[in-house]
Amino acid sequence: MRVAVLAGGVGGARFLKGLVAVVDPGNTSIVGNVADDIEVLGLHVSPDLDSVLYTLAGLADEERGWGRADETWNALTTAAERGGEAWFRLGDRDIGLHLVRTQLLREGAPLSEVTERLGHAYGLECALLPATDDPLRTFVETPAGTFSFQTWFVARGHRDEVHAVHFAGAPEARPAPGVLEALEAADVIVIAPSNPYVSIGPILAVAAIRDALERRRVPCVAVSPLVAGRAVKGPADRMLRTLAGGTTPAHVASTYGGLIDALVIDEADAPAELPRGVRAVVTRTLMTDDGARRRLAQAVLDAAGAPA
Ligand code: GDP
Ligand code: CA
Repeated sequence: MRVAVLAGGVGGARFLKGLVAVVDPGNTSIVGNVADDIEVLGLHVSPDLDSVLYTLAGLADEERGWGRADETWNALTTAAERGGEAWFRLGDRDIGLHLVRTQLLREGAPLSEVTERLGHAYGLECALLPATDDPLRTFVETPAGTFSFQTWFVARGHRDEVHAVHFAGAPEARPAPGVLEALEAADVIVIAPSNPYVSIGPILAVAAIRDALERRRVPCVAVSPLVAGRAVKGPADRMLRTLAGGTTPAHVASTYGGLIDALVIDEADAPAELPRGVRAVVTRTLMTDDGARRRLAQAVLDAAGAPA
């Protein structure tokens, strides 16, 4: 069975770790978010792709929720002491990866090729595909002004309420090589429990990707990133409240209008009335350990009517 997954960073990575334990990773394609990519200290950082990469490679710092385990911070400390920018935290091991990525990009390789090489180097068996090789960047509009994603998220600690999200470069962005092929070859498409607005939103802002989901002939199953109406981490619940009007499963489903056939929700959010054509599948969605991640992944496959 071939599975294609749209995924952001942490929530996406946690889910994917369970998924590759219950399906053949060789038949799994991940379409990752690149709209929070940022240049820091001259380095191209792809936070969401790296969360997936590190998690699947078993190198992630699961407690911190981002970056690598066993990290040290000498380079960043040195940069800060020399007046360099240090608000975006990069560990020494992490920087090693960004150095390689940045060099390959400067030599002219597209991000998809760079990501494939890095995935190979880290022993990934599944295909990790950036949604696009073209520049695509998230901006949020808040009462305090319009900010680039990382300025709002990291520098300002996502404290500003978001009135609107937009994606610079979206009209011109084409899917990266392999993305449409993966979506078309899939027996099931999954939207990971990622932030619908700033992790999945930018992927769907690539028109050809949204079209592929609209035209799908296979089930598309989304997993809600909320448990009991609250985000496990981050601003998804606050964003749903202001942008969708609430945090029920129906509000989550509304962010994927016309794109999903089922929404997997937590027991704490049931019973749920969902928009026409969307089935609610109730299970435990808190991915506390590898067992919980595997069970959630299996529930998603079962929801698609495709027992593994
Ligand atoms: P980011 O790009 O690193 O912010 O990560 P994502 O957008 O992929 O994931 C963030 C979302 O993951 C948040 O909205 C969380 O609520 C959700 N999330 C994290 N852990 C869990 C979990 O165990 N279960 C569920 N259902 N959602 C989770
Ligand atoms: Ca992200």
